[in-house]
Amino acid sequence: MGQIVRAKCKECEYSAKLFIGGGLSDCEFEAVITPFSDEQKKELTQIRDKGADDFSVQRRPCTCNSCGTIFACTVLNLGSDYPSAMKQTFCTDCPECGSKDIRIYSIGKTEEHCPECGGSVVFSTEGFWD
Ligand SMILES: [Zn+2]
Ligand SMILES: [Zn+2]
Repeated sequence: MGQIVRAKCKECEYSAKLFIGGGLSDCEFEAVITPFSDEQKKELTQIRDKGADDFSVQRRPCTCNSCGTIFACTVLNLGSDYPSAMKQTFCTDCPECGSKDIRIYSIGKTEEHCPECGGSVVFSTEGFWD
């Protein structure tokens, strides 16, 4: 079951809703790769077709280093039962600017800043999803 987290700026109206963790459709490869870009989808499907067909997926809070957007990125581990050479981890790009330069963190371990005004952002749990 996943967690719904609200990221809210203390200074302005900025807020973002993050779906963290995992849900029921996480066992279906096609559903899992939906948030990835077309380019990434192609690459992921190729790796899967080569035989690395086991995977695990997590959604983690992250901040884009280019535009500062706070979002939940999908972290996909492919080939987890295979020798390390075949293990690969993929993260989704920033949904706002398409940057791959993102920083994943654990909520509460870092201080995050609002992409609009630079004020500090507080995280609170709003509910659960599956
Ligand atoms: Zn703000
Ligand atoms: Zn961005």
